[in-house]
Amino acid sequence: MLPLSHSLGAGGAGPAGSSSSSKHAQRLQLIDEAQQFHPQMTAYLESWGLHNVGFGYDLCAVLGSQSTGKSTLLNKLFGTNFDVMDETQRRQTTKGIWLSRGANMPVLVMDVEGTDGRERGEDQDFERKSALFSMASAEVLIVNMWEHQVGLYQGANMGLLKTVFEVNLGLFQSSKQKNSGLKDKTLLLFVIRDHIGATPLQNLQNTLLADLGRIWESLAKPEGMESSNITEFFDFSFTTLPHKLLQPKEFDDQVLALRQRFTDSKHPGFIFKTQYHKRIPADGLPHYLANIWEQVVSNKDLDLPTQQELLAQFRCDEIANVAFAQFTSDIRAFRRPIEAGEVLETLGGDMAAHCQTALAVFDKDASRYHSEVYKRKRQELLDKLHSALSPFVLGQLKNLHKRVLAHFKRTLLENLRGDGHDFGEVVRVERAKAETAFAAAAALLMLDGTDWNTAEEEAQLREDIQQIADQCRVEETKKMIVLIERSIKRAVAEPTEIALGKPGPEMWDHVLEGFRHALQQAEAAYMQKAKSFNCTEEENSIALRSLRQKAWQSLRAKVDEITADSILAARLRNIFEDGFRYDEYGTPRIWKPEDDIDGIFRKARDETLELIPIYARIEPKDESLLPSIPSSADDPEQAAAVARGEEDEFNFGASLVVFSETRKADIGTRFRKEADAYYVEAKRSTVSSIAQ
Ligand code: GDP
Ligand code: MG
Repeated sequence: MLPLSHSLGAGGAGPAGSSSSSKHAQRLQLIDEAQQFHPQMTAYLESWGLHNVGFGYDLCAVLGSQSTGKSTLLNKLFGTNFDVMDETQRRQTTKGIWLSRGANMPVLVMDVEGTDGRERGEDQDFERKSALFSMASAEVLIVNMWEHQVGLYQGANMGLLKTVFEVNLGLFQSSKQKNSGLKDKTLLLFVIRDHIGATPLQNLQNTLLADLGRIWESLAKPEGMESSNITEFFDFSFTTLPHKLLQPKEFDDQVLALRQRFTDSKHPGFIFKTQYHKRIPADGLPHYLANIWEQVVSNKDLDLPTQQELLAQFRCDEIANVAFAQFTSDIRAFRRPIEAGEVLETLGGDMAAHCQTALAVFDKDASRYHSEVYKRKRQELLDKLHSALSPFVLGQLKNLHKRVLAHFKRTLLENLRGDGHDFGEVVRVERAKAETAFAAAAALLMLDGTDWNTAEEEAQLREDIQQIADQCRVEETKKMIVLIERSIKRAVAEPTEIALGKPGPEMWDHVLEGFRHALQQAEAAYMQKAKSFNCTEEENSIALRSLRQKAWQSLRAKVDEITADSILAARLRNIFEDGFRYDEYGTPRIWKPEDDIDGIFRKARDETLELIPIYARIEPKDESLLPSIPSSADDPEQAAAVARGEEDEFNFGASLVVFSETRKADIGTRFRKEADAYYVEAKRSTVSSIAQ
């Protein structure tokens, strides 16, 4: 409930009329005796139901000498409840400007109560101020006068009108300077009271118009307006009313007829024509009137266009704040899921919808204000909405990035499972899918009118995808090399075994020929695979180096296996036996005394002993057969890895030595012993054959 009784009490006027309890009959002392503006107007407008009507209201004010029945007329015309001077007490009504709402009509009525300064010889300060104030806000000024005042050119009314005209010229001038022309005219409705009827209205009207013309002539007009006509600024309308006390019935009838002109828009004499409206939206009226009054009281130039702009700024800001507060609470729901890493599927649409809603709230009230200001403030609001949303957009892009990247990784690994895929192609397809998915989802977030873009996040995503692809490629390359190594091991095993089983001067040539063939095949297999991996030159050279080293090591392992002590000893023994115990036809020898056992023994033994140094070192007859296998020390990076203990050292030169001098001697010694045993056995067999 409004503190109406207090505000009304302030003027000492008492409660707002006991005759009507309707809230519409309540009145507000807008400006009090001390020329203070009272700030409760918004509350009154709300209680009158006029706060939200935009331009859908009218405002009229009344001017005229003291006690000419102004308040009485207003109350009759509009059903208001302004103070009327008490007949019996002749008590002065409270000074100031009063505001009320017309009963059952969207009309604001201003009743101006002043002392008749002119008649009492006081200054006309308040009169001037209230004229200015009314002019700046009202569509219609009712000029109330007695019939007998018509034609009194020197009378109080004419003084008042002169003030009105001057004030209007002042307003017009500053408007014109602003070049936004306050072209709308104000209607002056002359109501001639206590009309006896002897002089017809037309005559009274002519007299008044002539006087008004003379006043206009006498005014000092601003530059450029010297020859302007009064009708450029005002429309005039004239009416009479009979004596209220002497002809109460006629008085009432005519007031009712006059009332029609205020309420019936189809009436030929309709008063509230759109062109007179001052275009102040109802919700901005309190602020506007307060400012106007402040300007008026402080004797500043009243520049209406500036006032309207100021009002527009003030109100647009207020309206924008309301819209923004609602918006802020609406978008709060985005925060938690986005911070938790979720991707909100409908975020783009939701954001746009919230912006639309906020703008609609803003537009509804703000669009009625000064259009430049409105447009500027709308843009400001939109920018503010967008910047409130941008953290969510960034968060969503991050989450989207993560989701797309995780999906890329998962599907890439799935597709790389098993054999038969082309790595490069798989990566290309999955990368394209990921980038398309990201771009499509990100595009939904890019609201119109923002400078948002996804370039940075897209670049980051590409980089991360590349990194994952690189990792996978390294893994895949390793897997591939392992496979190739396995096949090279198989390919090397048999030829090596065969060659080492038939020792001779060209033994290593055969081994190395087999190796060369296997290595060539492995390298070709690698290069073919590597093409689809998009491997770099550097990666290729590292992989090939590793492949060669590994291939050589597997050859060396095979050689070590075949030349292990017991195996080698058995092989040497076999070879010796073949030479000693079998003749050149492969027939076992039965030793006879005349046989040259010693000679045959020495030959077989020495020929076998000659094989040991051949086994001991990889040394082909044809030196070009020696492969070029880089040592780990040849490459600084590999050397560093060896130093860090990450890789075993590999020395190609050293790897050519199958066994050392000491081992060579050991093998020789062991073999000799075994050969000696054969010799002794052979000797014994002849002795025993003789003995038989
Ligand atoms: P205001 O000071 O102009 O607002 O005048 P009021 O409405 O307070 O009226 C002043 C006095 O004039 C009151 O005593 C009214 O009863 C009386 N009055 C009101 N209307 C008329 C009218 O049409 N003719 C005459 N003669 N007196 C009126
Ligand atoms: Mg009055």
